[in-house]
Amino acid sequence: MSGLRQIRRAVSLRISVTDRCPLSCVYCRPSGKEESKRGLAPFSSTRAEILSFEEIVRLVRAIKSCFDLSGIRITGGEPLVRRGLVRLVAMLSKEGVPDLSLTTNGQLLAESASSLRGAGLRRVNISLDSLDRRTYHAITGGGDLERTLSGIDAVLQCGLTPVKSNMVVLRNINDHEIVRMARFGLERGIHVRFLEVMPIGAAAARFDEWFVSSADVVRELETAFDLHALPLVPGATSRDFLVCDGEGRRGVIGLISPESVPFCGSCRRLRLTAGGRLLGCLARVDGVDVGPMLGRRAPVLRAQLADAVEKTLALKQYPQRFVDQRLMVSIGG
Ligand code: SAM
Repeated sequence: MSGLRQIRRAVSLRISVTDRCPLSCVYCRPSGKEESKRGLAPFSSTRAEILSFEEIVRLVRAIKSCFDLSGIRITGGEPLVRRGLVRLVAMLSKEGVPDLSLTTNGQLLAESASSLRGAGLRRVNISLDSLDRRTYHAITGGGDLERTLSGIDAVLQCGLTPVKSNMVVLRNINDHEIVRMARFGLERGIHVRFLEVMPIGAAAARFDEWFVSSADVVRELETAFDLHALPLVPGATSRDFLVCDGEGRRGVIGLISPESVPFCGSCRRLRLTAGGRLLGCLARVDGVDVGPMLGRRAPVLRAQLADAVEKTLALKQYPQRFVDQRLMVSIGG
């Protein structure tokens, strides 16, 4: 077995539990009219096509038996709109996955934080693109900033830490809030990450207009903070920095730079869509349909799945080029 193949045998899994999301972030999902005009239809799984919790757990067990599964991130669409999600978290937690986390827009988080924690969730990543009520509403297509901030308070209170927040930086939309967002992170003890927008989904058409590089983000941060690069974590998407403000507050911020510093070479992520397709790369949506395998007996499932994972990993694209314009909500962000 080659060295590369050995490294790849460690995997992490992002599980999309729904492709529905009540928000329509400007860079993620265009309006319905625009969607159909540009042929951007999501996978739009119906309830019957969506994997059951039992199927998801079978798949996780099979992957765990063949690979070194370092973590599971539950995502979507918006995962908190999937009914009974707390039950899935409890089922996955029983499987003994080292790092069980959730990515959410935070709109429904305040009411579910403590039950998620009780069910065994370890961490939460929250999308937060603005601290201005009106800008947040505009970017997210109707989101309520207060709800997400309450969700952040709730996860901090119940100890779902470290809390990470993600801000997609968009030129002339929220790029004036970079320092403010970093300060908010220092004050609340949140690890704020600044993401480069990717030319996928609705952002594909406006990429040049919106793109802000991580280098520009650093320049802006340096006007207010001292920044010290932290050692790179193997396989991580984020390059982290220790930041200190003039008042002795310290914290960590991260840069996620898929465009200017692609991390494809160390990527070990697999994505499972809500409808049961295993993908190796955001830029490729062919993948392998694993849904039909899930009814098979355990040894057959294990063998077929190991093969499917290897095939999926081989489909990773270096560096990523977004040849297929699916939406993040349907792929599982
Ligand atoms: N609903 C959840 C949420 O809001 O976090 C999970 C799904 S969402 C698709 C996951 C992440 O994808 C979000 O942090 C969002 O900002 C990011 N995203 C979507 N489209 C993007 C794009 N074109 N470029 C960069 N990030 C994008």
